[in-house]
Amino acid sequence: MDITVKDNLLMIKQNINRALQKSGRTDDDVDIIAVTKTVGIEQINEAINAGLYKIGENRVQELIKKYDIIGEKVEYHMIGHLQTNKVKYIIDKVSLIHSLDRLSLAGELDKRAKKSNLNISTLIQVNVAEEKSKYGLRVNQVIPFIEEISKYENIKVKGLMTIAPFVEDPEEVRWVFRDLRRLSEMIKDRNYENVKMDILSMGMTNDYEVAIEEGSNMIRIGTGLFGKRNY
Ligand SMILES: *Cc1c(COP(=O)(O)O)cnc(C)c1O
Repeated sequence: MDITVKDNLLMIKQNINRALQKSGRTDDDVDIIAVTKTVGIEQINEAINAGLYKIGENRVQELIKKYDIIGEKVEYHMIGHLQTNKVKYIIDKVSLIHSLDRLSLAGELDKRAKKSNLNISTLIQVNVAEEKSKYGLRVNQVIPFIEEISKYENIKVKGLMTIAPFVEDPEEVRWVFRDLRRLSEMIKDRNYENVKMDILSMGMTNDYEVAIEEGSNMIRIGTGLFGKRNY
């Protein structure tokens, strides 16, 4: 018999619990974002039936397509690079934008949120490892950025997000997760208006256990749930 999304989820939940225990966070919860990029509706429904209700997409067009079919029984999370000119298509559809990484995007999000009379929840994407191929602010840019965007009343910053470099052994990127957690604690101590540090979105299929050990409370899992992607 084929391995199902439900089977995969069971295993992931066991691993989450082990990582929480290992780090003494037994009272904490970890949110699982089911990353459904390239995944078909049938498999997404399988995930929903298994109890997952937070869907992560990295492309606006694909997110909208799925939103139109699946509707509002799940939450939609924008986890990929977001072009400023596409904000208007998703502003009223997404629960959380994980990829706020520049002022021009913050300005557009605020403007569109205001227009739709809503607050938009965001995470600031941090390129902790300073990889050239990845988006995100450098660690030392985050506090100045927060000070700059705190004037935008319709943007609520809920935390930070990072994508660690892909490595065989996730121990090699433990420092990335630790640095992001330290940064979030530093920001929390400053008590900025409109800025909360409740969410640390870090950890993917290859490295979520290490990320949780370092304080993650939101992981983004694609391959681990749905198998290898066919692009
Ligand atoms: C694709 C993607 C993921 C999921 O990656 P897997 O290794 O398949 O779990 C997580 N976060 C982001 C931003 C992604 O683009």
